[in-house]
Amino acid sequence: MFQSDATESFGFQAEETIRINYFSLRRMCTALYPLLRPHARVVHVSSSFGCLSQITGDDLKKKLTNSNLTETELDKIMHEFVDAAKSGRHLQVGWSDSAYTASKIGVSALAGIHQSIFNADPREDITVNAVHPGYVDTDATLHKGILTPDQGAVAPVYCALLPKNTEIKGKFIWYDKTLADWKERYFLQLNIEDERKESEEATMFSTCVKMLRTTSKFASLARYESTLVIAEHNNENLLPLTCNTLTAAKKIGGDITVLVAGTKCQAVAQNACKAKGVSKVFLADSDAFKGFTAESLTPLILKLCNEHKFTHILAGASAFGKALLPRVAAKLDVSPISDIINIKASDTFVRTIYAGNAIETLKSKDNVKIISVRGTSFELLPLEGGDAKCETVPTDDYTSNQVQYIKQELSKSDRPELTSAKVVISGGRGMKSGENFQLLYTLADKLNAAVGASRAAVDAGFVPNDMQVGQTGKIVAPNLYIAVGISGAIQHLAGMKDSKTIVAINKDPEAPIFQVADYGLVADLFKAVPELTEKL
Ligand SMILES: Cc1cc2nc3c(=O)[nH]c(=O)nc-3n(C[C@H](O)[C@H](O)[C@H](O)COP(=O)(O)OP(=O)(O)OC[C@H]3O[C@@H](n4cnc5c(N)ncnc54)[C@H](O)[C@@H]3O)c2cc1C
Repeated sequence: MFQSDATESFGFQAEETIRINYFSLRRMCTALYPLLRPHARVVHVSSSFGCLSQITGDDLKKKLTNSNLTETELDKIMHEFVDAAKSGRHLQVGWSDSAYTASKIGVSALAGIHQSIFNADPREDITVNAVHPGYVDTDATLHKGILTPDQGAVAPVYCALLPKNTEIKGKFIWYDKTLADWKERYFLQLNIEDERKESEEATMFSTCVKMLRTTSKFASLARYESTLVIAEHNNENLLPLTCNTLTAAKKIGGDITVLVAGTKCQAVAQNACKAKGVSKVFLADSDAFKGFTAESLTPLILKLCNEHKFTHILAGASAFGKALLPRVAAKLDVSPISDIINIKASDTFVRTIYAGNAIETLKSKDNVKIISVRGTSFELLPLEGGDAKCETVPTDDYTSNQVQYIKQELSKSDRPELTSAKVVISGGRGMKSGENFQLLYTLADKLNAAVGASRAAVDAGFVPNDMQVGQTGKIVAPNLYIAVGISGAIQHLAGMKDSKTIVAINKDPEAPIFQVADYGLVADLFKAVPELTEKL
C-alpha cells in the first residue's frame, strides 16, 4: 500500500499495487474455486474507487464493461495499465493517477466475469459479488476512516451469507448493503449537521479521496451532485434567467459552480459570487467569447466538465442556452433535456411537450445531464447572502474558426425585458400594421409593461422577432398578460398560458384565446385600446 508521500516511481507503485490487489486475488480464485461446493458465496473486496467514474477513457470503459470480457483480457488490461504507468502514459490512455483505483476497477470487473463463469458451472447457485466495505478506520486509512472495522464487515458478511438461490449475483454492493453499480458514478457525501467541509486528504487514496466530504458519526450515502450553471449575461450584468437557473440548480442539490465566460466580464463574476448556495465561480475572460457563440464556448465547457466531472450542466432555455447546450450534449454523446419546468429528483425532470399540451416526466440515465431551464418556472435566486470563490480559468485559444462574431443589433427599449416583465401586452395579426403597435406601446408605458407579439405579427414584419411570444419565441409568465388581436393558437398559448391573469381583446367571440382568458373583451381593438389607455 503506497501512501501519497511514497518516493517510489509511479510505474513501480502501479506494478506492485496491481500485483497485490488484482493478480494475487486472481491466483487465489484460481486455486480455491475448484474447492467450492454448490451455493458457495464469493466476495471480492473492492472499493468506491473501483468504479468507472474514477477514470476518463471511453474506450477503456467500453472494454471493461464488455459483457464478453474474459479473465485473460482483463489481465491484459491490467498489464497495459502498468506499462502505461511506467511510460507515463496512463492519463493519456484514460486511467486516473491512482494505481489503487485501477486495481480496484480490476477487482469489480473480475466479480462479473467470475459470476458468468459460475452461471455455466454444474455446481448450482454459486455467487460472486464485489463490495465497497466503506471508509474504515484502519492502519491503511491512517485511521481517518469513519466506519469501525465491524461496520466495514457488514457488507462483506451480508454477501457471504446470501440465502440460497439469491438474485444478488455478480453485483456491486455498497457498505450499507444497497446495490450499487460500479459502472456508474458514486461518491460518498457525508454531512456534519448540514455543514460540508473538504475532508483532510487521506493519503492512502491520494487524489481520489478529494471526493470524500468530511466525516460524521451518522455518515449517509448519497449520489454526489455537482452542477455547472452557464451564466447568461451582457458582460455587465447577469440576466435574470441565470438567477432562475440557479434556483433550479439548488433544487438538484450538491455543489453549484457558475461559469461566467465573456469579454471584460469580471463584474458579472463578482456579482455571481453573491448568490447564496454557489460554491465557486469560474471566470473565463477572453476576446474569443465575443458574441457568446456556441462554437467558442463549447470547448471551454467540455474542458471544465472533463476536469471537474460535473453531473449536471444547466443554462436558461433562451436563444443562448438553446444554441449552446445541444452542441455540448452532442459532444458528450448524451441527450439534452430541454426547457424543464420542474425537478423531481436529480435525475428526473418535468417538461412540456406537444406545444405545452402534455407534461412529460423523464428520468435521465446519462452520466452528465445537460439541461435547459424554463425561467418562468423557477423563482429568481437573489444575488445576496453568498460568498463564493472566484477562480480565473485559463482561456487558452477558444477563437472559433467556424464562426466569427461581427456585431449585434439589439432593439433598445426603456420598457421592461419581455421575459421578466410583470405585465406584458402582446399584439397579433389583428393589429394590421407595425405603426398600429404604437397603440400598445402607449398603453404599455402607462402600465410599465413589456410589449410582445404573435408569430403572425412578426412574420408579417410588424415588429422584430425578439418580441415573439410562444413555442418558437419567448416564454413569459407575467402577473398580467393582455392579448390584443391574437386568436390564441396553441403555439402562442405555449408561451403565455402560465401568466397569472390573462386578458384578451378580440372582435371574434369564438376566438380560442377566450378559452384561456380570465377576462375577455369582444370588441374592435382600435376602439377598445385607446379607451383603455385613456381611462388609466
Ligand atoms: C411550428 C410552429 C411554431 C409556431 N410558433 C409560434 C409562436 O411561437 N408564437 C405564435 O404566436 N405563433 C406561433 N405559431 C403560429 C401559430 O400557429 C399562429 O399562426 C399564430 O399564433 C397566429 O397569430 P395571430 O393570433 O396573431 O393571428 P391570427 O390567427 O390571424 O389571429 C388574428 C386575430 O385577430 C383578431 N382581430 C382581427 N382584427 C381585429 C380587430 N380589429 N379587433 C380585435 N380583434 C381583431 C381576429 O379575430 C383573430 O382572432 C407557430 C406555428 C407553428 C406551425
